[in-house]
Amino acid sequence: SIVVTGATGQLGRHVLEALLERGVPAGGIVAAGRSVEKLAGFADRGVQVKHVDYADAASVAAALKGARRVLLISGSEVGQRVEQHRSVIEAAKAEGVDLLAYTSIANADTTGMLLADEHKATEDMLRESGVPFVLLRNGWYLENYTEQLQGTLAQGALAGSAGDGKVSGAARVDYAHAAAAVLLADDQAGKVYELGGDDAFSMADLAAETSAATGKDISYKNLPAEEYVGVLTGVGVPEAFAEILADSDLGIARGDLLVSTGDLRRLIGRPTTSLGQAVRAAAASA
Ligand code: NDP
Repeated sequence: SIVVTGATGQLGRHVLEALLERGVPAGGIVAAGRSVEKLAGFADRGVQVKHVDYADAASVAAALKGARRVLLISGSEVGQRVEQHRSVIEAAKAEGVDLLAYTSIANADTTGMLLADEHKATEDMLRESGVPFVLLRNGWYLENYTEQLQGTLAQGALAGSAGDGKVSGAARVDYAHAAAAVLLADDQAGKVYELGGDDAFSMADLAAETSAATGKDISYKNLPAEEYVGVLTGVGVPEAFAEILADSDLGIARGDLLVSTGDLRRLIGRPTTSLGQAVRAAAASA
């Protein structure tokens, strides 16, 4: 079977859909998640649903029983992820899986972003584990921006610390289809995919697309990182997370989230979702 961990999340659900679309029999897919009730719709369609909490090794071992291929979707609890991912890697090793695919971060070898630390540590654990693995080094989601559209419109401006840096964003559904393609392909062990959108954009480009799609005049205001942290905490973002977001923007300014391999486009067999498409869709449903 193919086991997807983090299946309850937004990326995970898209991966399940992509596997089904590609003709994988529902019974051959295991959707592993912390709150299985979120997966009831997939259970109704015949997908095997199993409870897994990365922090509970026994649940991880049970979810991976009989697995041939595993997609480890990186967890969302920043600071705890190395130990959480370790439990999945150890279970995959005990099970002798043929392939473990891991959703890492773009440019993990060179990036200076704080958010990359746990991904680098996970990649190191994979290298040391002896488990056959493939790295899906995902770039930024377009949704990181489009999900902020209401807030941007309410503020009348976009703020950040990314300067003129560009980011190769793509839609979650693009990364999900790439993951499904890799899970279903032969000879993937040892491969490293650097995944990002076809066209990189700056925050000024994002502001311009937002203005065009909404008819509002939105501009980008670049701020020193400390000031941006203040803006974020001012709208209720917890301080620790605000600092990570500002640090990520400094990474964008350095080019840490630029990807020009074309891997994503090749894996999904079509152009990636563009910024304009994503912003227009978000504006239409706002
Ligand atoms: P979501 O927050 O929607 O999903 C995160 C998933 O991780 C959920 O299924 C969540 O389960 C699961 N999870 C978290 N902690 C545990 C745990 N202890 N045990 C089991 N499952 C756990 O994120 P996305 O789907 O959008 O993104 C997937 C991952 O990609 C994120 O977790 C993060 O690592 C990374 N990411 C990447 C971004 C990018 O721009 N490339 C942006 C943001 C995140 P539950 O439903 O129970 O909470």
